[in-house]
Amino acid sequence: TKVTEFIRQAQGKTLFSIEIIPPLKGQNITELLDSIEPLMEFKPPFVDVTYHREELIDIKGQNGLIERIPIRKRPGTVGICARLMERFKVDAVPHVICGGFTKDETEDVLFDLHYLGIDNVLVLRGDPEKSAGVFKAKLGGHTYASELVTQVDNMNHGILLHAETEAAHTNFCIGIAGYPEKHFDAESLDTDFEHLKRKIDLGANYIVTQMFFDNQKYFRFVDRCRAEGITVPIIPGLKPLATKRQLTVLADIFHLEFPQELVNEAEKCASDKEVRQLGVEWGVQQCKELIEYGVPVLHFYTMGKADNVAKIASQVF
Ligand code: FAD
Repeated sequence: TKVTEFIRQAQGKTLFSIEIIPPLKGQNITELLDSIEPLMEFKPPFVDVTYHREELIDIKGQNGLIERIPIRKRPGTVGICARLMERFKVDAVPHVICGGFTKDETEDVLFDLHYLGIDNVLVLRGDPEKSAGVFKAKLGGHTYASELVTQVDNMNHGILLHAETEAAHTNFCIGIAGYPEKHFDAESLDTDFEHLKRKIDLGANYIVTQMFFDNQKYFRFVDRCRAEGITVPIIPGLKPLATKRQLTVLADIFHLEFPQELVNEAEKCASDKEVRQLGVEWGVQQCKELIEYGVPVLHFYTMGKADNVAKIASQVF
């Protein structure tokens, strides 16, 4: 089922959903799936699974560097989607990224997903390689998410990269990312909105936002989208604060600003256990206001332990 269809069927009722991250290569998949089992009580119609690019690692010998090879530290997105659907009877929404893939490799992944019966993909550019710092496309790959939106949309119309005859149509519902606090690479908020609008014009069907801790940022983002003529559902992405360190780590990684009030409250906490509890209380307030506003879905980034997400969900659903 398409995410937009789940939203339509809910008739204004806010849905619950989550994003999970594949384990580090070689770690146990059952542990990950067990960790989200308690969240199934809140009936997520879909669960997102992130995709991770390869990172260059140095292979060293006795005399120093032998070679640099690309390693995917968190492989398994497609397999995890299959397991999720089988075990929890939910729709899996894999992320597909430009970084580290050629267009042909992407086409093959999209067929894997289509054959698995997956109806939705979240289309992203992908994070830059850590060692490079700035995003570089693989030779023969896409530079911007908008180009990948076009590739998926073309497949939905039976157009493949090299096929001479029309292919069987895929029918993916296409999600994309949006940034209430501006994407870090964007020159300005204005150009960021231009690029967001282009992704919609090229065929994207819904937006999931980067995490934010101040609902006003989300409300302003939605207002601006509507003013730009973007009418698709805008799903807020949420992450409960869990440690004091996250105040700087999340702010740095995701380029966001924490509200001063939350920072002050966190500073007062004597331990991370208290911060985790504060994160739950803050999350509950955020969610209640977002539900009242009428958001289609509350989408949680679980990032490992999900007990705090369960605590929030049990108080708002
Ligand atoms: P784009 O839409 O391509 O935009 C990237 C930047 O380029 C923006 O600053 C934009 O304004 C600018 N831009 C766009 N088009 C043009 C143009 N034509 N000319 C000039 N500038 C342009 N990363 C992963 O690696 N794996 C994941 O699974 C993953 N999941 C995510 C899920 C969500 C909900 C979100 C919000 C992010 C996720 N990310 C993931 C991170 C994401 O890949 C990064 O934020 C990335 O840096 C940008 O991706 P994008 O799709 O927004 O890029």
